[in-house]
Amino acid sequence: MTSRLSRSFSDPTYDARQMRASPYPLAFVIGLIACLVAPSAALAADPAISATDADQVLVRYRADSTPAQRANVARDLGLDVVRTSPDGRNQLVIGRGVSAATVRRLLGEDRNVQAVAPNYQRELADEFTDEQYFGLEWGIHNTGQTLNGTHQQTGIVDVDIDGLEALRITTGSPNVIVAVIDDGVDFSHPDLSGRAWTNPGESGPLALPGVDDDGNGYVDDINGWDFCNNNATVHDANQDGHGTHVAGTIAASLNGTGVVGVAPGIKVMALKFIDNNGCGFDSMAIDAIDYAKSFGVPVINASWGDAHRSLPLESAIAESGALFVAAAGNNGRNLDTTTYNFYPAESPVANILSVAAIDQRGDRASFSNYGASTVDIAAPGTNIISSYPGGFAWSDGTSMAAPHVTGVAALGLSVVPGITTAALKSRILTRGVPLPGVVGKTVTGKLVNAMRVADAVGPTALPVDRHGINVGSIVGSSLSTTMTWPPATDDHSGVSSYVVRRRVGSGAWSIIASSLTTRSFKVAVPFNTATQFGISGRDGVGNVGPQAVSPTVTAVLLQDGTSLAKYAGSWSLVSSSSVSNGKLHASTRTGASVEFKTTARAISIVGRKGPNNGKAKIYVDGAYVQTIDLYRSSTQSKVVVYNKSWSTNGLHSVKLVVVGTSGRPKVEVDAFPILR
Ligand code: CA
Ligand code: CA
Ligand code: CA
Repeated sequence: MTSRLSRSFSDPTYDARQMRASPYPLAFVIGLIACLVAPSAALAADPAISATDADQVLVRYRADSTPAQRANVARDLGLDVVRTSPDGRNQLVIGRGVSAATVRRLLGEDRNVQAVAPNYQRELADEFTDEQYFGLEWGIHNTGQTLNGTHQQTGIVDVDIDGLEALRITTGSPNVIVAVIDDGVDFSHPDLSGRAWTNPGESGPLALPGVDDDGNGYVDDINGWDFCNNNATVHDANQDGHGTHVAGTIAASLNGTGVVGVAPGIKVMALKFIDNNGCGFDSMAIDAIDYAKSFGVPVINASWGDAHRSLPLESAIAESGALFVAAAGNNGRNLDTTTYNFYPAESPVANILSVAAIDQRGDRASFSNYGASTVDIAAPGTNIISSYPGGFAWSDGTSMAAPHVTGVAALGLSVVPGITTAALKSRILTRGVPLPGVVGKTVTGKLVNAMRVADAVGPTALPVDRHGINVGSIVGSSLSTTMTWPPATDDHSGVSSYVVRRRVGSGAWSIIASSLTTRSFKVAVPFNTATQFGISGRDGVGNVGPQAVSPTVTAVLLQDGTSLAKYAGSWSLVSSSSVSNGKLHASTRTGASVEFKTTARAISIVGRKGPNNGKAKIYVDGAYVQTIDLYRSSTQSKVVVYNKSWSTNGLHSVKLVVVGTSGRPKVEVDAFPILR
């Protein structure tokens, strides 16, 4: 017979030390800390996830605009006014037959308009923390609070699953169902209101009481099934409580009272197979697993187990296809050894994810089983408060750790619908955060992290804002350039690297750099070919955001003889097979100059360096900027000796003036490569 991995006692006078010494090594005390009155009809519905009404545009008119001017704006642009504030300054409008983006653009150009934006929906910033006992839920948000649940302990700040940060991303999709195979789940508990999965085949208008409407062999299995008593009642008063605690950790409702689960927006299927009086047989567990499979349930929580391996049970788990989150057990033993075993946590089945328990300080809970090759990851498992029949209760156990991971899995399914079980397991394991207390004690050495699993949005990048020609490079069939861009921003996990893509002409985009940790990239740009570059950010969990595309850039090589270059003073035309296009302009006369003027975002000068070459002054748009020295111990041709770049195309001039350096006055101008 299988045992639950904590035992629930609602009598607060029961002594924890007695229980630890009892014949039930998996047993820990729960103290009942609060009783709730009858479920309240006033419980709030789950709040909507932040959203933008796609059609409505919020416009704020200038304070000095008149009512007539405002009316004209709406009439001229053909807008339907949804709502106007009493003072007339703020309106919600909808365009007729044009996109909201177009409406925003047109309004933004009107002189009577101060500001315009989508009508974003906001949430109360503090609603998660408003839950009555949120401050006690260290596993979701560890503030270093001192708790006195099953025992007194003071936590360490942020040793938690980043559950609060995850809730700000998603509270979980109601389309995600997790099965709690346990004792019963008391769905009449106010904090599980709205969380029960309902079997559509047994709950539609045509469903009849006492009839197996969906023909699955279970009569009136509306919220699941009781495989222990073989009936549809998934909670029996005074016979169960552990499953209600587990379900609350996974999904207790966000309703302003009690606790909040890791994924308070999802649905729970209750599959009871054990209770205070017995049951807990593998036959019942297997039927429950097969039942979950019949509804395609993607995640199963299993806060139970014992020392015996069962191949039929492993077969059912493997065939379920679900992520089977299994508690590692409360014996304080190393499951990697053959001297102690705990199943199904250590069963060699790919879709099992086994979970150890840590305390508020990040140490492995002394009772938690562990194993560097048998236990996958750790989660909070001491001083855990959750829903319990009749109120709320504290409990310890790997039973409490597993549902934290199950809730995280549900969030992962919410943000990546249809993710495979293998990918979901990998996402949970790779996105955990290393925790010294479980390094060497688990496969990953990590604490599960809800925020990182729920983070599915990559950074917002900005396009290349500077693209210059590399001074010192040699001009050949292409131009050596360097582009730079401003920092991307990320909502949650920070920007870790950048991806650079290129498109030549109207061809396909291709990645030319996949994980740059700098905000600049050196790239050869072919001459006379329109090329575009896109920048994407990659965040700390690997999400790559949309790319920000800069305007088309074309490299053009203008020769020293171009009509865009105006020479003054004495210059001679020199022929040489080693210079660009076989010719260059040379001068040794102090004050001789050449001014090159065109529309570009980068202008450079190609010259020749050598032992007889001297200095030249550079002026940009009429202002002196620097003096360059063309001296080099050996001759170098076709070399870029100066570059100036701007953020956008514009009409600019670059002027070179011969200094007349003593002993080596010669300055040679070969070509003007530009980017535009
Ligand atoms: Ca049925
Ligand atoms: Ca609640
Ligand atoms: Ca992100």
